[in-house]
Amino acid sequence: MTPEQFRQHGHEVVDWIADYWTRVQSFPVRSRVAPGDVRAALPPSAPEQGEPFSALLADLDAVVLPGVTHWQHPGFLAYFPANTSGPSVLGDLLSAGLGVQGMSWVTSPAATELEQHVLDWLVDLLGLPTSFRSTGSGGGVVQDSSSGANLVALLAALHRASGGGTVRHGVDPDRATVYVSAETHSSMEKAVRIAGLGTDAIRVVEVDGDLAMRPAALRARLERDTARGYTPVLVCATVGTTSTTAVDPLAELGPICRDAGVWLHVDAAYAGVSAVAPELRPLQAGVEWADSYTTDAHKWLLTGFDATLFWVADRAALTGALAILPEYLRNAATEAGAVVDYRDWQIELGRRFRALKLWAVLRWYGAEGLRAHVRSGVALAQELAGWAEADDRFDVVVPHPLSLVCLRPRWPADVDADVATMTLLERLNDGGEVFLTHTTVRGQVVLRVAIGAPATTRAHVERAWALLCEGHDWLADDFAEAAAERARAEAE
Ligand code: PLP
Repeated sequence: MTPEQFRQHGHEVVDWIADYWTRVQSFPVRSRVAPGDVRAALPPSAPEQGEPFSALLADLDAVVLPGVTHWQHPGFLAYFPANTSGPSVLGDLLSAGLGVQGMSWVTSPAATELEQHVLDWLVDLLGLPTSFRSTGSGGGVVQDSSSGANLVALLAALHRASGGGTVRHGVDPDRATVYVSAETHSSMEKAVRIAGLGTDAIRVVEVDGDLAMRPAALRARLERDTARGYTPVLVCATVGTTSTTAVDPLAELGPICRDAGVWLHVDAAYAGVSAVAPELRPLQAGVEWADSYTTDAHKWLLTGFDATLFWVADRAALTGALAILPEYLRNAATEAGAVVDYRDWQIELGRRFRALKLWAVLRWYGAEGLRAHVRSGVALAQELAGWAEADDRFDVVVPHPLSLVCLRPRWPADVDADVATMTLLERLNDGGEVFLTHTTVRGQVVLRVAIGAPATTRAHVERAWALLCEGHDWLADDFAEAAAERARAEAE
C-alpha cells in the first residue's frame, strides 16, 4: 500500500468509525451470533492474491459487526466499561503509523520520555503519592492490563522479600504467602500461579459486611504465618472490587503492612481513575502506604484498551526483579544509567508507543473533561440506586460509591430467586437495548448495572430502569399464573 493509497483508505476507515459511533445505538448491545457463526462466514484459507481494501470493509459490515458486542453502545452496562474516544483512537493510529518499538530508551527516546512524563502528570491528576513520580524513587509505566500489573507487582514484592534471592535461585514456594480477600480479582491468583508459588500460598482474609478486607483479620493472619515460619510477601488491597466496587481500607491496612514488612499492592483497576475528581479521593485515603498501584485508563478514562497505569514507590525493586540485559541490547545510555528502559518494568520485551493515546486524551479533554465524564457516571449511578431503593421490587444490596449499582430483584417466597433473577437478566439482554451482567453477593445472584460508557446519558439509564421494572413485572405475572395453575391442579 503506497502512502497515497493509505491516505485514501485511511479516510474511508476514519469515516467508517465515525459512522459506527453515530449508529452504534441501532445494534443490539450483545452480539446475537451462535458459536462458530463468524468463522463459518470466513473463507477456509488466506487469499492467494491481494484484494481491494473495499472488500475488507464490506466484510467488516457483513461478517464482523454481527459478531461484535457493542461496548461503546449507550446501553452497555455490563462488566465494567471499556471506554474509547476520538482522541484515543487517533493517538493509537499515530502510534501505529510511527510503528516504533519502545523496549529501551535508545530504541525511541520519545516513547519512553513521553510515557514517563504523562504518568507523572497522572500522579498529580489522581492525587497519588509523590513517591510514585519518576523524579523521586518511584515511577509509572503503561502495562497491557491490570492482570499483568498484578503479576509484575508480585514479582517486585518477591524480589524485595527475598533480598534478591528469587532472581538468583527462584522462589521457595513453601514459604512465601500472599494476602487477598474473597473479593480480590482472580488475576492475583493467576499471578501467584505464574510466579510459581502455587495456590497454597494464598491467604484469603475475611471481609466485613460491606465486603471490605478486615484489617484485624489481616494482622492476625500475618502474625500467625510469621510465627509459623512463612514469609508474607504481598497484600493485595482493592479499591473498587470487580464484583461490587467494595473498597478495602487502605489507611488501616497500610500501617499493618508496614509493620510486617510486607508489600502493599493496590489494585484499583476500575475505580482508581475516579480520583481525577477530588471529592472521590477519600475512597482511597491511605494510598500513600502503597508500594505499587494499578488503575486502568482503558476502563473508565476515555482511553482505548490497552492502557493500564501502574506505579511503584521504589522502582529498584521492580527493575531488580525484571531487568536482564543481553549483549545485543547494550547501549551507552543504558550503561551510563542515565535512562529508563521500560523493558525492565514489564514481562514482555517489546512495547508499543501507548503514551501517545493517553497524551491525546489528556490534551483533548483536559482534567476538567475527564472529571466531567467520571462525575456523570457516578451521578447517574446514584440516581439509579435512589430509584431502586424507593421501589419495593428491588433491593440495593451493597454500597455503591461509584458508578456500579448491584440490584437484587425481590420475588415471591415460593420462587427460586436466583433462577428468577437470571431469567430476568437473559430476557433483558435478549431484548438488545441493554446489556447487564450478574455476580453473587453473600451467595445470592444480583444484577450489576455498570454505568460509564461515554455515550450513556440519563435517558439511557432511565430506559434501563424501565426495562428492569417491566421485566420484573412480566416475570412476576408469569410466576403468579404458574402458582394459580398449580393451585387449580391441586384442587382438581
Ligand atoms: N483487577 C480488578 C479489580 C478488576 O476489576 C479487573 C477487571 O475488571 C482486573 C483486575 C483485570 O483487569 P485487566 O482486564 O486490565 O487485566
